[in-house]
Amino acid sequence: MRFGRHMPTGSRPAQALHIARQIGGDAAQVFVTNPRAWRASAPNPAQEAAFRAATAETGIAPVVVHAAYLINLASPKDAFYTASVELLRATLDRAARHGAARVVFHIGSHTGSGESAGIARLTDGLRRVLEGAPEGVMLLLENDTGGGGKIGYAFENLAAVLDQLPEHRDHLGVCLDTAHLWGAGFDIGTPEGAIRTLADADRVIGLARVPVIHLNDTPEDLGSHRDHHARIGEGIIPVEGLAAFLRHPGLADATIILETPIKESAPGTPDWDDDRAHMARARALAGLPMPDAPSVDTTAEPLPDAIPLPLSSQAEGAGE
Ligand SMILES: [Zn+2]
Ligand SMILES: [Zn+2]
Repeated sequence: MRFGRHMPTGSRPAQALHIARQIGGDAAQVFVTNPRAWRASAPNPAQEAAFRAATAETGIAPVVVHAAYLINLASPKDAFYTASVELLRATLDRAARHGAARVVFHIGSHTGSGESAGIARLTDGLRRVLEGAPEGVMLLLENDTGGGGKIGYAFENLAAVLDQLPEHRDHLGVCLDTAHLWGAGFDIGTPEGAIRTLADADRVIGLARVPVIHLNDTPEDLGSHRDHHARIGEGIIPVEGLAAFLRHPGLADATIILETPIKESAPGTPDWDDDRAHMARARALAGLPMPDAPSVDTTAEPLPDAIPLPLSSQAEGAGE
């Protein structure tokens, strides 16, 4: 099991990997396109090379990329659908250029056309996205809290998409977000509930097809269909449940990514010491020690927190 967090990158993505390592990560997640823009900016070969070098230097693996929020492959509207296909394609390309092995995306909403129409649209969109996609990158469908026509709240919906694309089996999987599971009504707050939820996921999707977990707490009620992330132990999901979830043998090879708010020591300055302590608590839930501290101090230059964290609630209604 590898463990890390979503890192703000500002204009220095390579630096973000060094900080990820310093706060106790051996994996990390980043954006490689503006999460709120329909267009990926032009590739930056020098920055990409620096990022790949930092990956090797820090031993951070895997690097997970989170795609932009605007993407909605399930949209019945042609303009959104086409733009989503293009942007997800571009994201896979940028991920490959950064040496990232996984791309997570929100599978979107049918916005009224119905679940089966949404799933059909999404499946067709993925076929187009994966046509000629870079070899080394795997695309992961993220589960959702549901509500608003969103289709990723049920394991059956995620499995339906995977089942219709057997030719892309090696390039498609699922990312489960604990706050989204909770919002969708899966009670993962007790060990029994967590184990039952993962048993269901294993039966319907297969945990071997879930290489990434987003580990988030939430202040929102079970089954609320709301998506807000909290630091582990600071929301309402009991940590006993999260610990049982993380210790499930089916997730032994998974990568765990925190998408939790980062405290600030001053406005605009992330408090990485606090975040390292949070990482240590989160890793302990999974029974993981902190990795050995790196020898080089790279925190001298503070990282601007210019790019927000992936909270899908912020994206609601963003695209349409
Ligand atoms: Zn997530
Ligand atoms: Zn979320």
